[in-house]
Amino acid sequence: MPPPPKPAEHVERALCVLAHPDDVDFGSAGTVARMTAAGTEVTYCIVTDGDAGGFDDTPREQMPALRRAEQQAAAAEVGVTDVRFLGYPDGRLELSLDLRRDISRVIRQVRPQRVLTSSPERFWDRIGASHPDHMTVGESTLRAVYPDARNAFAFPELLEDEGLEAWTVSEVWLTASPRADHPVDVTDVVDRKFAALKSHATQLSHQRDGWVEDFVGGWMRQTAQRFGLPEGRMAEAFHVVHTV
Ligand SMILES: [Zn+2]
Repeated sequence: MPPPPKPAEHVERALCVLAHPDDVDFGSAGTVARMTAAGTEVTYCIVTDGDAGGFDDTPREQMPALRRAEQQAAAAEVGVTDVRFLGYPDGRLELSLDLRRDISRVIRQVRPQRVLTSSPERFWDRIGASHPDHMTVGESTLRAVYPDARNAFAFPELLEDEGLEAWTVSEVWLTASPRADHPVDVTDVVDRKFAALKSHATQLSHQRDGWVEDFVGGWMRQTAQRFGLPEGRMAEAFHVVHTV
């Protein structure tokens, strides 16, 4: 079998579909910063408002609005202004036709060549990466990429009522995958990633100063090492799936 094709050098549009505000920032904000710096237009689609998250005594009913604002601020740190929220309940996502339709709608609106989402497969090395919502969003997004978004007869109301034409996504990048095969060196943009992460104040209030740099920086150094990057580099890694 020939080796799989490499991901495209440059894409016009990318769409990141993640379960919670902050997911994109932990795993992928460095890669997003590199994409936007190279001229790719990046859109975020966040499925829940993260209303089951947080560690302080913020009144729970304030959490959705706070977390949306934090995600919007984090996005701005890495060059993203188009942030869409689907408003599903945090911690209770199930694989459903409604979720597939709602993600398909955004794919048809944005028409991305590249979609970045979480792995539907459990990452056994780090159980926290495989929150059930993450796996559900990954599986739902892959089902929306193939076949729903590209099939004009799937969810026909998207075309009939909203005029959204079918769209074929070329490649899907999965984060926290046990099959990661594509490292992205984010060392040169890492300050922007750290700034994005620190926008999620409700999620970090229980951590000491320097935690983001030490803990998240430590993961990224390990990832760089695992892929044989030079000493001192930091990387994010993805399983790239070709979906044409
Ligand atoms: Zn999450």
